[in-house]
Amino acid sequence: MEFFGDAERKEINDVLETGILFRYNHEALRNDIYKAREFEAEVAKLVGAKYAHAVSSGSTAALVAMAAAGIGAGDEVIVPPFTYIATIEAVLMIGALPVFADIDDTLCLSAEGIRNAITPKTKGVCLVHMCGQMADMDAIMQVINEHNLVLVEDAGQAMGASYKGICTGLFGKTGAYSFDFFKIATAGEGGIMVTNDETAYKHADSYSDHGHDHIGSNRGMEQHPILGFNYRISELHAAVGLVQTRRVPEIIEKNNVHKKQLMATLGEIPGVSFARIPDADGDSATFLNMLLPDTESAARVVTELNAAGVGGFNYWYTNMYHFINQWDHIKQMRTASALPIEKFGAPQDYSNLDVPGAQQTIGRLISFGVRATWTSEEVAALAEKIGAAVTKAMSVEA
Ligand SMILES: *Cc1c(COP(=O)(O)O)cnc(C)c1O
Repeated sequence: MEFFGDAERKEINDVLETGILFRYNHEALRNDIYKAREFEAEVAKLVGAKYAHAVSSGSTAALVAMAAAGIGAGDEVIVPPFTYIATIEAVLMIGALPVFADIDDTLCLSAEGIRNAITPKTKGVCLVHMCGQMADMDAIMQVINEHNLVLVEDAGQAMGASYKGICTGLFGKTGAYSFDFFKIATAGEGGIMVTNDETAYKHADSYSDHGHDHIGSNRGMEQHPILGFNYRISELHAAVGLVQTRRVPEIIEKNNVHKKQLMATLGEIPGVSFARIPDADGDSATFLNMLLPDTESAARVVTELNAAGVGGFNYWYTNMYHFINQWDHIKQMRTASALPIEKFGAPQDYSNLDVPGAQQTIGRLISFGVRATWTSEEVAALAEKIGAAVTKAMSVEA
């Protein structure tokens, strides 16, 4: 959401000039312009995926990724209690049952947390790479393989991040990225699922367009091998998304410079530490994730930051809807229409979860959005303001 320029305008104009805003068919009129396909090719190239399929949002990308991986009605899916709520909603929307497991200081599900949540009904794990960083993949893949689980990655906040050279989203069967306005690259709205598995890709392609097989040039004569729904992306959104994707390597490079500068300065302050980054070279660095000694000191720092006019997310105190403590609708299963819980029964007591790692970590966490557009003077000024707020808040302790 940082840079827009002539390149985005040109791609949108290509679409408007033909008037074909639909990604399929209309061969005679579209002048060979296929922005959704180009968008998919750009994302596949960026992350090193064999296949990518663009959809209407990151939320629907997560849903399609799970459905295409074969997760469905009544299946238990292990999920984190710290994620954007869309992950949990997607599990419920495909008729599956979320089972919350614990996270650790990576801000992501831990191998141990996953292991403790496995039951005979566990089908898979929807791992979320939070706050621009990545989960501890070696340990997690060991549990996944040991128990033969289906791994789906919601990398909505971590497109372009990697662990030991492999991009988030490509460790499991399928992965999902978001292109909403707040993500590293935006299409206004949009999302994309990635996979190296041809069958999963074909299922995603059909599932997100009412089951169409997309063979031939006459939509009215296409076959529908499976049931699906409409999660399509428009050509206009794809046009913006494809240019934005090309900008990601530069954004990540600059973000990393800025994040390292902030960490070097703030790391000197007593009481300040940071969320663990399992592979620091693979950080997308979209967030600086600062940890304070405890929830109370974090609250005091937030107060000082607010007074100083410096942003910073504390997911415990704000209502950003990223943490189970705020998800009363899930705890009470308040819905407009029936959810799988009513049919299959809740796999755990959502209002009384045992996730001490999450409770201990999220209250201490303050995350700051990192901007690629900052100058190094701006980074230095921000480090000073954050440092002053921390120092002041910590000094009232005694
Ligand atoms: C943003 C986000 C989503 C949802 O993406 P939308 O494009 O807003 O639908 C899903 N999961 C995670 C982890 C996200 O951060």
